[in-house]
Amino acid sequence: MDIIKIIDSIADKIFEKRDELSELDRAIGDSDHGVNLSRGFQKIKEESSIFSKLNYSEIANKMAMILISNVGGASGAIYGTGLMRVAQSLKGVEELDRDKVGVALGAMVEGIKFRGKAIAGEKTMLDTLEPVEKIFQESKELSICEFLDKIEEVAQEGMESTKDMLATKGRASYLGERSIGHIDPGAMSSYIIVKTICENLREEFKC
Ligand code: ADP
Ligand code: MG
Repeated sequence: MDIIKIIDSIADKIFEKRDELSELDRAIGDSDHGVNLSRGFQKIKEESSIFSKLNYSEIANKMAMILISNVGGASGAIYGTGLMRVAQSLKGVEELDRDKVGVALGAMVEGIKFRGKAIAGEKTMLDTLEPVEKIFQESKELSICEFLDKIEEVAQEGMESTKDMLATKGRASYLGERSIGHIDPGAMSSYIIVKTICENLREEFKC
């Protein structure tokens, strides 16, 4: 698996979708999610060539540090904390398999919940990521190609489910009832990240 290629394509996709993400944030936040997150991922892409000298844990840690220091706003700290937990969970891991990725994903979701003091249903990125983590653990009997399709489908449903939710965490919560009717920008960026990873893996596994 070419982890650097996957990371670079996430950066490209977030860049491509940055206006759409900021537009979602304009409706229920402060219009900066796409621009902020894209700045962070472009910085990661600039440094990703040195990742080939690092192990998975070190790569996750480096990405966390870059996001925390380059993405202004809540999402930088929250994604960064998630990635720091991934780094801890992958310590000593030389090769990834489905189980190890599952453990890392679980650690990521726990880190995000801890940092954001949020649970699913509060109209955040967790509404994309928690269902993905759940289906990941529950679908191990599926073939890799079916598995990737399922994960992408659940991520999309999770992202779309935020439209009718009332925001109770983050900046969108200041809007109260007026937050209803818009997809959460962080739920959308998480969907883009999950989808991009699935697309890369489909290519790799020739799905
Ligand atoms: P800010 O709100 O500081 O401008 P961003 O616009 O970069 O930060 O990111 C907003 C996104 O961060 C939201 O759409 C939401 O998904 C996520 N978010 C905000 N607060 C929390 C929280 N407490 N827990 C989990 N995710 C959160
Ligand atoms: Mg914002």
